Amino acid sequence: MSDTFDALWAALAPLGRHRTTGGYRRFTWGPADTEVRAWFTAAAAERGLDVRTDRNGNLWAWWGEPGPDAVVTGSHLDSVPDGGAFDGPLGVVSALAAVDALRARGVRPARPLAVTVFVEEEGARFGVPCLGSRLLTGAITPGRAAGLTDAAGTTYAAAMAAAGLDPEHMGPDPDLLAGIGAFVELHIEQGRGLVHTGHPVGVAGAVWPHGRWRLDFSGRADHAGTTPLADRSDPMLPFAATVLAARAAAAEHGALATIGKVLAVPNGTNAIPSRVRAWLDARAPDEAALRAVTAQVDAAARAAATDNGVLLTTYQESASPIVRFQTALRDRIAAVAGGGPGEPVPVLPTGAGHDAAVLAAQVPTAMLFVRNPTGVSHAPDEHADTADCHRGVAALADTLAALAG
Ligand SMILES: [Zn+2]
Repeated sequence: MSDTFDALWAALAPLGRHRTTGGYRRFTWGPADTEVRAWFTAAAAERGLDVRTDRNGNLWAWWGEPGPDAVVTGSHLDSVPDGGAFDGPLGVVSALAAVDALRARGVRPARPLAVTVFVEEEGARFGVPCLGSRLLTGAITPGRAAGLTDAAGTTYAAAMAAAGLDPEHMGPDPDLLAGIGAFVELHIEQGRGLVHTGHPVGVAGAVWPHGRWRLDFSGRADHAGTTPLADRSDPMLPFAATVLAARAAAAEHGALATIGKVLAVPNGTNAIPSRVRAWLDARAPDEAALRAVTAQVDAAARAAATDNGVLLTTYQESASPIVRFQTALRDRIAAVAGGGPGEPVPVLPTGAGHDAAVLAAQVPTAMLFVRNPTGVSHAPDEHADTADCHRGVAALADTLAALAG
């Protein structure tokens, strides 16, 4: 089992890795994405799994005929810009290795079993995270998804078509969903909860509610050397105030708020910008705290815009309510992964969104987390020890065996 994990991991590792940063740039429907999808298809086919592409481009590798009450496991292969190796791929590679482990144990699942790869989980290229699972469940309309654009102005529909898939087919798939009896996503922990408990593996309790907002500050471009301060309409100033307000609001409400993406136009050293576009990512333990944070940031941004003679428009790009995973399935998996009912692995909350959280609205869903020694994620330093990855595969195989029989 550890051999097959190591071999799969080594084969996937070079694909989409940037030569100088060491981070991954696997953007949905781009060349690296095509490579990793081909890698998955080949690895699944080598195992005799029947690989199908659903109407939204998500990949499903079936062990046995697709049928009712299926046990499904998987994650995603796309990355944030210069992302780490583990966020997403660990769940996919562990799923394939778990299939190998079950076969080596002579397990013949009584229920159909599938390994999935969801499309555009990070939302790094088109702005909306978990797009593949949102389309599948109907949480986003195909029309809205088709019209999403990347930084170059390419629409989602055009990018999908360029990758050889038909965007006309996008949309909810209630039949496919109805066939899923349980979905389990294994993922690297994106924090240090397991470091504190001393366990290599844990299960998810809840996913914090979160959302993304785009803020457009529009001012007037002018000369940096000749325009008196009093005559300026500089959108960089309310933008800067908003960054600080987001931090203060998050601290006040026990939440998280980040402005990690910003575009200045014309982006010249000696020019006052005409426009600053920024994206706010906010997450909180409950909906009330999230609303309080975003209301506070919005009020601060508007006040700063007015003070500086700048126009502000805001737009919510995504909203994800709190997700509490089904308690019965969670506790069963915690016991199985711990090796028995007496020693369950810990239950952890998370601020990170996942396809599992989207599917949880319609399907019994659970997540397994693998320890992350530094807690770093969405960066090249993201890491999990190989021994812990192997423990993760074993826990996933035990879970699948228990669920699929
Ligand atoms: Zn992920």
